[in-house]
Amino acid sequence: MNQSTIPAHARAVIIGGGVIGCSVAYHLAKLGWRDVVLLEQGQLSCGTTWHAAGLVGQLRSQVSMTGLIRYSTELYANLETETGLATGWQNCGSLAVARTDDRMTVLRRMAASARAQGVDVEVISAAEAGDKWPIMALDDLKGGIWLPGDGKANPTDLTQSLAKGARNYGARILERTKVTEIVVENRRIKAVTTDAGTIKTEIIVNCAGQWARTLGLRNGVNIPLHSAEHMYVVTEKIEGVQPDLPVLRDPDGYIYFKEEVGGLVMGGFEPDAKPWARDGIPEDFEFALLPDDWDQFEILMHNAIIRVPQLADSGVRKFYNGPESFTPDNNFLLGEAPELQNYFVGAGFNSMGIASAGGAGKALAEWIVTGAPTLDLWPVDIRRFAGFNNNPNWLHDRVKETLGLHYAMPWPNRELETARPLRRSPLYDRLAQKGARFGSKMGWERVNWFAGQCGSAEMSYTFQRPDWHEAVGREHRAARETAALFDQTSFGKLLVQGKDACAVLDRLCAGGMDVPVGRSVYTGMLNERGGYESDLTVLRLAEDRFLVITGSAQPVRDLDWINRHTPEAAHATVTDMTSAWSVLAVMGPNSRRILKKLTGANLTNAAFPFASVREIDLGYANVLANRMSYVGELGWELIVPMEMTVGVYEDLMRAGADEGLVDAGYYALEGLRIEKGHRAWGRELGPDLNPFEAGLSFAVDMNKPVQFIGRAALSEIGRPRFLKRRIVQFVLTDPQAMAWGGEAVLRNGVEIGEVRSAAYGHTLGGSVGLALVQQETGVTDEFLADGTFEIDLAGTRVQAIAHRRTPYDPRSERVKQDD
Ligand SMILES: Cc1cc2nc3c(=O)[nH]c(=O)nc-3n(C[C@H](O)[C@H](O)[C@H](O)COP(=O)(O)OP(=O)(O)OC[C@H]3O[C@@H](n4cnc5c(N)ncnc54)[C@H](O)[C@@H]3O)c2cc1C
Repeated sequence: MNQSTIPAHARAVIIGGGVIGCSVAYHLAKLGWRDVVLLEQGQLSCGTTWHAAGLVGQLRSQVSMTGLIRYSTELYANLETETGLATGWQNCGSLAVARTDDRMTVLRRMAASARAQGVDVEVISAAEAGDKWPIMALDDLKGGIWLPGDGKANPTDLTQSLAKGARNYGARILERTKVTEIVVENRRIKAVTTDAGTIKTEIIVNCAGQWARTLGLRNGVNIPLHSAEHMYVVTEKIEGVQPDLPVLRDPDGYIYFKEEVGGLVMGGFEPDAKPWARDGIPEDFEFALLPDDWDQFEILMHNAIIRVPQLADSGVRKFYNGPESFTPDNNFLLGEAPELQNYFVGAGFNSMGIASAGGAGKALAEWIVTGAPTLDLWPVDIRRFAGFNNNPNWLHDRVKETLGLHYAMPWPNRELETARPLRRSPLYDRLAQKGARFGSKMGWERVNWFAGQCGSAEMSYTFQRPDWHEAVGREHRAARETAALFDQTSFGKLLVQGKDACAVLDRLCAGGMDVPVGRSVYTGMLNERGGYESDLTVLRLAEDRFLVITGSAQPVRDLDWINRHTPEAAHATVTDMTSAWSVLAVMGPNSRRILKKLTGANLTNAAFPFASVREIDLGYANVLANRMSYVGELGWELIVPMEMTVGVYEDLMRAGADEGLVDAGYYALEGLRIEKGHRAWGRELGPDLNPFEAGLSFAVDMNKPVQFIGRAALSEIGRPRFLKRRIVQFVLTDPQAMAWGGEAVLRNGVEIGEVRSAAYGHTLGGSVGLALVQQETGVTDEFLADGTFEIDLAGTRVQAIAHRRTPYDPRSERVKQDD
């Protein structure tokens, strides 16, 4: 227990004195918040931080994550000058090597994307890799990449240096002070109780590492993480190992190496990890390790000897088995918890905490000070998970896989395999019997494609044309030429009700909400910067009742956004109805004829135009039918009470039997929507992109009398004659070439952007992609018309045609004639 007096009040209290808590304290204090207190139950860095290997690699699959770590490297290099305490930062560079051609493809793709993000990177041969790392065996290697800006830090020194910096700016750091309770009254944080007294505060930041989940649960806050064991060894001195030896990653062998006192640190991320402490972390787990586990380590040791044969004869000085917290998707958890205002979280760092601490601490501090994230943090936003993700048994089974994801092949469309199935549509068994191959999103099992006569029955991963290409083509063509049924039950469904519901939504949405009952509006919710917080369809069901249909990944985030921006005095509530209704989308030119067989409702263009919603009878069920289309064809999204879903599905399949109706999955849906140029939130759309850049100004009503959020920013931006950034559609000219998203776009040989999502366009006969293209002098029509465009497919450049609007039947879904 801390004997020094603790302050009576603080503007913010940070719980946890690991590298993350100290970074948040440093950045909060640097931003001018002097009255900040950090509480650590033991000593600084005593939890997980002290035994980290200290690798700092910049390259991540998401642009914003790479940006955070780039900032970390700059901070670690300069912090000593500011604080006088060394961070152990050594800019030794890093190498990643490939044992297979597919891994080399991954490295080339990563290099292209890194270059686009301004990270210094070079694709090198196996021999060149050998020059940089002379003690490694090269005979099985295909090549590698070299990142000169990467390095390593000393985790304990770094933590102390951040803490010193925080103190210099006025923060108070108290060790041996354990938080026992967070006092909440009327859903507001009032105080933090510790074993040394109580501190009044309205803001807390939970940086308690693997303790964070239990602490969160005490206040009903879900922080889905689970500990797993993570191991490395430190060898005796090895000849040829110099202090400036770069960090080496050999992902095909699941291993990494760095130099330490003339020997090697060798650790890794095995595919089948070992969860720890399902029943809770022992008391006093301070500067503690777990017993050596050579059986678990064997796969790593075996691979390490292949890479560095000298290891077979080297002694091991120390075995480190330290537990660390892992999350369900291997990204950390950042942001304000949706369950409790002013409860911030920075935890679950999946063995990336040292590399991420600088950037993550800065991003979280800015979020706290400004009340909103200052950049796109969706990949790590705590709101990407829901309460059900916090189930301890589910977490336990999932983290076995998560740890290994660091070095697993990042195949296009890769699905996680563990802890499934979790959420199932009522049609799950029926669709499985019909050959459905499932993927998962937000816990939902969703059909990717149906394995019919053509195509592989199993999920196969490749960068080339996959086995399921033809099966998906069949579904795609049915949606364009006859009809296809998509089970889109995973859509988020939020019911906003009350006499102020319209006013609330009008302030939140960029489109006009005060539309006649029965209209549906495609629009976006924007932030103050004019960027997309979500894109959604709002169905006006009654004067005072709206159904918001949003992406499968977003219901928690959108619900939180709506709640946060609903004034306390407003008569409006929002309820998540996702689990109450299924969504069956019947799409394609024959969809009207199919529905007509089952309903007495008038489905003509005059009675049921595009963007309208009606309650109709359908067989024995009453359903909401929304005339909208993500695939760009005549079609209806049917919103069906969960328990009526099987009946409605059977009726539809019977009615569609002689209309060419087929079951279809998300791979076809993706190809259809990209071909049509429809944007998706989290891919093309995000908090840093405004509707003008997105090409969605039609979904914004600048003339409506309501000052909606983001309007001021959009007015300031105006509607520029040219935009420096723009979403552009590309169609690859070689019909065999496969794009998957993440590829670099080149104009006249110069990189100008990145493909955000891509799939095969079976109607256009080639891969189609939606890319974010940038050009200081403007991405004008002339710029697009005059240039020669190429997409970099892992080092092979393939020609592509740029389109501002889709070349495929641009208004098809609106104007299909009555039949
Ligand atoms: C073997 C191993 C190797 C690693 N190698 C690397 C690497 O090379 N590169 C990299 O980037 N990352 C690496 N990591 C990961 C890195 O160590 C972690 O991501 C990072 O240390 C997490 O920091 P943290 O601050 O979130 O957690 P911690 O360091 O665990 O800090 C949380 C703190 O909260 C305190 N606390 C908990 N409850 C309370 C309470 N009620 N009151 C007060 N205090 C409380 C704890 O005592 C603890 O000190 C490695 C991890 C392991 C296990």
